[in-house]
Amino acid sequence: MAQYAIFYDQSRCNGCKTCQMACKDYHDLPAERSYNYVIEYEATDGWKTDSDGFFIPQGLYSYFVALSCNHCDDPACVKACPTGACAKDEATGIVSINQDKCSGAGVCVTQCPYSIPVMNDETKKGEKCDGCKDRVAEGMMPFCVEACPQRALAIGEADSVPEGFERASVAPLPDPGETGPNRYIKLAKSAERAKGKKGDISNVPELK
Ligand code: SF4
Ligand code: SF4
Repeated sequence: MAQYAIFYDQSRCNGCKTCQMACKDYHDLPAERSYNYVIEYEATDGWKTDSDGFFIPQGLYSYFVALSCNHCDDPACVKACPTGACAKDEATGIVSINQDKCSGAGVCVTQCPYSIPVMNDETKKGEKCDGCKDRVAEGMMPFCVEACPQRALAIGEADSVPEGFERASVAPLPDPGETGPNRYIKLAKSAERAKGKKGDISNVPELK
């Protein structure tokens, strides 16, 4: 099986969210529903108090994590789905939800550690990124990849990971050992620096 993979060059990403907007536009999604998103993450080397008692960060750095479905090797969404609607294609490794089979149980939404599936409040069914599989089958790129002005996104096969990319392991994403995400990232310098440090997501309201 050729496993579909996403290659994300985080060192090129400027957090513009064009990838998200292009996906929403194509799928005609409302403001409150997205199949992909961009996390803004920031960390410091620690805090010190100045002579006036103000807390001052000692080195503050931030980076972006653009995220869509990782079409995982061991997808939590597929394991949790009670009807088989959420399934991994044997030929491509793409994980998608068959709307005809979905019962609306919503467990894909709660079980994905990357918070990718979403509930459609009108159809009462789960939905998610399907890697633009129909476009890819016709030799085209997913919309997020095509739209990125920084050329930070690409797709390919998991057995041909470009040099400098590694399986997604960057805060605040979960440990890749959990589901085996097929997202490979070339880390930004600030992400390298943030390794092992405690940081925060600065755009939480936008992600809800
Ligand atoms: S469109 Fe490209 S540069 Fe902009 S947030 Fe998405 S991945 Fe990053
Ligand atoms: S990222 Fe989430 S929705 Fe996508 S395959 Fe992995 S567990 Fe499923």
